[in-house]
Amino acid sequence: KTYLTMMHFSLRRQSSWVQLAGHQGNFQLSEGGEVLKLYSEVEAKCLDCLMRDPLRPFVPQYHGMVTRGEHCYIRLEDLLSGLRRPVIMDCKMGVRTYQEEELVKARTKDTLRNDMYQKMVKIDPSAPSAEEHTQKGVTKWRYLQWRDTTSSTSTLGFRIEGIMMEDGSVQRDFRKILTLAQVTEALLYFTRSQLGILKAYHSRLLALSDALTNSPFFRTHELIGSSLLFVHDHSSKANVWMIDFGKTTPVPDTSKLRHNVPWAEGSREDGYLIGLTSLITSLAQAISV
Ligand code: ATP
Ligand code: MG
Ligand code: MG
Repeated sequence: KTYLTMMHFSLRRQSSWVQLAGHQGNFQLSEGGEVLKLYSEVEAKCLDCLMRDPLRPFVPQYHGMVTRGEHCYIRLEDLLSGLRRPVIMDCKMGVRTYQEEELVKARTKDTLRNDMYQKMVKIDPSAPSAEEHTQKGVTKWRYLQWRDTTSSTSTLGFRIEGIMMEDGSVQRDFRKILTLAQVTEALLYFTRSQLGILKAYHSRLLALSDALTNSPFFRTHELIGSSLLFVHDHSSKANVWMIDFGKTTPVPDTSKLRHNVPWAEGSREDGYLIGLTSLITSLAQAISV
């Protein structure tokens, strides 16, 4: 589910719709500066809530749902609309990318998964234990927890899923980044060290940080697998948006999330603010280079 797709070039709108993550079939282009994403009740509920929250300016406008053929879609503002040769980066936020419920389900199964073993070996041949090597299999539970340690997700609270430069080339190697210094280098590459753009991103993230503090939505939702989408073009306009709420779920009334502490199972903490702080720190470093 993590392959890359680059889709239609729409000359009419002078905008190139590009998808940096997710399954290609999940999106459709629409008229009037909108994109359609395959409907999910979880995501639709979040967007409904977000349209009435202080975070609204940081989220693509949501226009409800629509049916096309056999499928239902949510209608979202196209964040690339009006941009020419946009440069974009998708950062997946949080210290983990699976829901607690996935882990609980996975734990009850001790089926050995050869597909997951293969994926593991491909990224790091030394990751499986001797026993796992012999069995040529790992449990899903083991795989889920291991996977986030191969990127900056577990330590820095986010990872760069992909970057697309103005010529349309896409790079996904950044997912293996582990240190803040490497993130800073990636940011310098992504912005071609343009100070104006780095500063614009920095202040946008500070504003987001403020809005999160005041957001009832943020206090009451666990954000898993959600991204910040960074977008700029040659005009030095630069913006950051919160996207992808397919695994963002409300926590019970009685609990509130802090988002800035490591996760312990049962706490439902997502570490979203750990990731945001890493990004802000790294941008500040890039600005001072
Ligand atoms: P996954 O869960 O695998 O990350 P997904 O199917 O939930 O994928 P999203 O992450 O919401 O899909 O979006 C995938 C990509 O599509 C983003 O990385 C971004 O490049 C693009 N995209 C999503 N929403 C918008 C939007 N409103 N405007 C412009 N581009 C968008
Ligand atoms: Mg996504
Ligand atoms: Mg998603």
